[in-house]
Amino acid sequence: MTASGATGNSHHSSQHAHAGDRRLPHPVSGGPIVQLPTAFGDFVAQAWTDLVTGAEHLAVSSPNPPQDGKAPLVRLHSECLTGDIFGSYRCDCGEQLAYALEMIHAYGGTLLYLRGQEGRGIGLANKIKAYALQEAGFDTVEANEQLGLPVDARSYNAAAQVLAEMGLHEVRLLSNNPDKQHRLAKAGVKVVEMVPTEVPSRDQNIRYLQTKKDRMEHRLTLDTHVVGARGAAESFPPETFQHEQD
Ligand SMILES: [Zn+2]
Repeated sequence: MTASGATGNSHHSSQHAHAGDRRLPHPVSGGPIVQLPTAFGDFVAQAWTDLVTGAEHLAVSSPNPPQDGKAPLVRLHSECLTGDIFGSYRCDCGEQLAYALEMIHAYGGTLLYLRGQEGRGIGLANKIKAYALQEAGFDTVEANEQLGLPVDARSYNAAAQVLAEMGLHEVRLLSNNPDKQHRLAKAGVKVVEMVPTEVPSRDQNIRYLQTKKDRMEHRLTLDTHVVGARGAAESFPPETFQHEQD
């Protein structure tokens, strides 16, 4: 096995690395490709195991390549249990996930669902602790700093390796986060275009989104603010609700 975390000119060859992909030494292992019919349409899915961390990721792809001759759309979606599963409006992860699946189904591409990246890599329990601090008035960045945790602990080395092994060397990245583009480029995947994924902001997540825009350089316009998008009865408590991700 190659040394974990190695970058650059490793002379070790891994059974998982393609010849010429020496910038991508992070070992991953792909499983069988299966059909995955969903509410968003029919996809194919493939599990990928990060052989360094043991994290199990899922690639969900449109069955057909892009018809427009463009590079495939790719969404690197960091696991967010509260947003993805419970539809939490503290963040916009669930809506971004749905939007990305619709886009990928329509135009062709792959969503890589990255597990072990909850709360930008700090874990579920720490994310909920950060929520508590946010309810005390801190913003997303300040809350992590209060906990002594990095604002973004995610690594995209495994993701880049999975994309490379799937043959996705040039992609159109579905994201508002320029940092993802930089990190993927460093890991050897060329982002030929950033495709924005803006979803409507809400009373419950406007401060979170504003923090992403102001302090994390996300490209958001926030001019589509949906006031009380789900009705006043659902605008459950304070407007300080916000958190991480993308
Ligand atoms: Zn989230």
